[in-house]
Amino acid sequence: MEIAEHRQLMILGGGPAGFTAALYAARANLNPLLVTGMTLYGQASQTSCIENYPGFPEGVAGSDLGQLLEDQARRFGTEVIYDLVQCVQLDERPFKVCLGSGNYTADSLIISMGAGARKLGVPGEREFTGRGVSFCATCDGAFYKDKDIHMVGGGDSAIEESLYLSRFARSITVIHRRDTLRAGAILEKRAMENPKIHFMWDSAVKEMLGDDRLTELLVENVKTGDLLRVPTDGVFISIGHIPNTSVLEGQLKLTESGTIEIDRHMESSVKGVFAAGEIADPIYRQVVTSAGMGAAAAISATNYLATL
Ligand SMILES: Cc1cc2nc3c(=O)[nH]c(=O)nc-3n(C[C@H](O)[C@H](O)[C@H](O)COP(=O)(O)OP(=O)(O)OC[C@H]3O[C@@H](n4cnc5c(N)ncnc54)[C@H](O)[C@@H]3O)c2cc1C
Repeated sequence: MEIAEHRQLMILGGGPAGFTAALYAARANLNPLLVTGMTLYGQASQTSCIENYPGFPEGVAGSDLGQLLEDQARRFGTEVIYDLVQCVQLDERPFKVCLGSGNYTADSLIISMGAGARKLGVPGEREFTGRGVSFCATCDGAFYKDKDIHMVGGGDSAIEESLYLSRFARSITVIHRRDTLRAGAILEKRAMENPKIHFMWDSAVKEMLGDDRLTELLVENVKTGDLLRVPTDGVFISIGHIPNTSVLEGQLKLTESGTIEIDRHMESSVKGVFAAGEIADPIYRQVVTSAGMGAAAAISATNYLATL
């Protein structure tokens, strides 16, 4: 691997976790280099209004928040590259990182490449995302007050999110391709006892239909093959989360859910390599928690670099 440049600290990923890590590292005089990847400001950039990030009582567009995070990180000396990490080598020191535009070595890394919701892959899903199709109940639940909505999935997250949505929506119908849930017994009992939650068993969404917004789901009974058009005010999809770890394969330990395994200092199984945000968080998955992990990872990386 031809080496272009050496850095004390590189931050891989330009979402809320990465830019917050960059802010802290820059203020510790580490001159971090942040690589944004293809989605500048990460998943947050996909939403027009974030109402639960502290300090913005009127809410803030995800891309505006991202721009503010970048400005703040740059102000203290962060360098930003709009490029993709194509490979990393963690079994040698310094660590090696290859980008499309060149190769780097670094004494320490913060990996903040995020995650993506698993998609159904049916027609209409992409078109109506943000207009009736959502992948995050905590983020969008409040927009569905007194509405009749649907949830796709049958595991813990789908049921937890349905229970959460029952605070707002008039009804939630869980569409599940089996005839039993895969969620834990307590969650299942709570959902079964909740008068707002209903179930469509043995069913799979085949298409999402509407004009400006989603208005109908085409649902197939997987046992009989019958198709049904189901009116809806919105659909939440909770069929899993995919952390962006493909370039890290075999290099560090992952958890069962596919996130990077970290300790309470955000350090991975490789000393000097830290992880923050959704790539290491299968549970909370919020802008504020990802940013918090970014800050913690940068403080830990600063302490680690001081020991070298
Ligand atoms: C539609 C939608 C609405 C949401 N609304 C809210 C909300 O209202 N409130 C809230 O708190 N949360 C919300 N979330 C969740 C929130 O956006 C995420 O929790 C948060 O963005 C996670 O931050 P992150 O930095 O860990 O990862 P991400 O935001 O996923 O960012 C990952 C970054 O890594 C980069 N990357 C990936 N692969 C590579 C690579 N190979 N090389 C270099 N870079 C790479 C990407 O380009 C991106 O910049 C929403 C999510 C979605 C999808």
